[in-house]
Amino acid sequence: MNQMKANIYTTVEQNRDLIIGINDFIHDNPELGHQEFKAAELLTRTLAEHGFQVEKEVAGLPTAFKATYTSKPGGPVIGLLCEYDALEGLGHGCGHNLQASSITGAAIALRNNLGDLPATIIVFGTPAEETTSGKVPMAEAGLFDGLDAALMMHGGDRTTVDGKSLAINSVDFVFTGKAAHAAVSPEQGISALDAVLLTFNGIEYLREHVRSDVKIHGTITDGGTAPNIVPERAAAKFLIRAADREYLNTVVERVFNVARGAALATGAKLTIHEGKALDNKLNVQRLNDLLLENARQVGAREITPPRQSTGSTDFSTVTHRVPGACLRVSFVPFGVSNHTREWVEAGKSADGHAAVITAAKAIAGTVYDLITMPDVLQEIQEEFKAAKSNKLP
Ligand SMILES: [Zn+2]
Ligand SMILES: [Zn+2]
Repeated sequence: MNQMKANIYTTVEQNRDLIIGINDFIHDNPELGHQEFKAAELLTRTLAEHGFQVEKEVAGLPTAFKATYTSKPGGPVIGLLCEYDALEGLGHGCGHNLQASSITGAAIALRNNLGDLPATIIVFGTPAEETTSGKVPMAEAGLFDGLDAALMMHGGDRTTVDGKSLAINSVDFVFTGKAAHAAVSPEQGISALDAVLLTFNGIEYLREHVRSDVKIHGTITDGGTAPNIVPERAAAKFLIRAADREYLNTVVERVFNVARGAALATGAKLTIHEGKALDNKLNVQRLNDLLLENARQVGAREITPPRQSTGSTDFSTVTHRVPGACLRVSFVPFGVSNHTREWVEAGKSADGHAAVITAAKAIAGTVYDLITMPDVLQEIQEEFKAAKSNKLP
C-alpha cells in the first residue's frame, strides 16, 4: 500500500479518542432537525482547530455549515457530507452520530497528510435529513456545484453502498365536510372521514395498476372528533415513491385524482398540500466500487452487494448535481432495521465505535484515490454525465 494512504489510516487511529468522543457526545445529545446546535458547534469547532476554514449557517439554515481545506489549489474538489439529526422520541435511531464523527475523522486525517498534493476537501454539515431535508436548500443555493465528487457514510446492518434510492413525494389531503348529529340528522351532514376512507380504498385499487417499484403508504392524521358528530374535517398524509421522478409524477397525479374522486363522491371539499419531494439517487458504479474497495482494504465487516429494497434520501438531490456515493458500514446485526432501539443502543457500542473508525479510514482512503488517480476520477465523471442524461437509477 502507498505510504501516504498508510499514514492517513495511522492518523485516524491516533485521533481515535477525538473521533469517538464526537460520536458519543452527539449520541448523548440527540437533537432534532434544524436544532442540532450542539452537534454543529462541536463539529465546526473541531474542524476549525484542525485547519479548516468554517462558514456557518450556510443556505440560511441555522445548523448547516461548510468547512474547507485546500492543501494546494488546482486539484480535485471533494465534498464530504455529514448528517447529525436525531429522531423524535427515539434519539439516534438512524446512526447519524456515526456519520458526523467518521466524516470529521476522515477530514482531519486528510488535512494532516495531503502535504502539497493539490486538493480541496470540503466538509458539509447537512441538517434535518429526517424531516425537511437540509440538502435540498443547500443544493439549490449552489453549495455542491463545483465538487468533483461527493461522499457520505451511513451506518447499516451490512457494509455496502447505496445502489439506488426511490424518488418520493409527500402529500396531505384535507377534506372539509359538514357537521351534523350522526343519529338525529345524518342526512344534513357531509362526512369528511368518508372521503378519507374512500381515498385509502381507491389507492388500494390503484396499487395494482402501477409499476411494481411504486410504494404508497398513508396514515389518517385527522379522523374527526366524536362518533355522534358527522366528521366535518378529516385528513390523511401519504408518501408516494417510485424508482424515477418522471414516472412518479404520473403516479402522484393519479393519487390526486383518487382523492378528487372521493371529494366528488362525498361532497366534501378537498385541499391538497404538497410536502417534500426528493428525486431518485443517480448511481455512479465506478464511485461505488471505489468506496467498497476502500472499505475492503480497511477490513470492514459483512461486505455485501447494494441493497435491492430501499427508501429515499435527500442525498439523491446532491447526486443529480455531482457524482455522489454513500458507504453503509455495518454496526448492527444483519437484518436489524434503522429507526429502532437496537440502532440507538449500538450507536455507542464497541461495534459502533469500530464502524466509525472503519468508515473514517475508508472515506479518507477513497478521497486519497480520487485525488491521486485522475483517470478514475475522469471515468466517474463520464459515468455521471451518462447517468444524468438518461435520468434512470
Ligand atoms: Zn433515518
Ligand atoms: Zn439516516
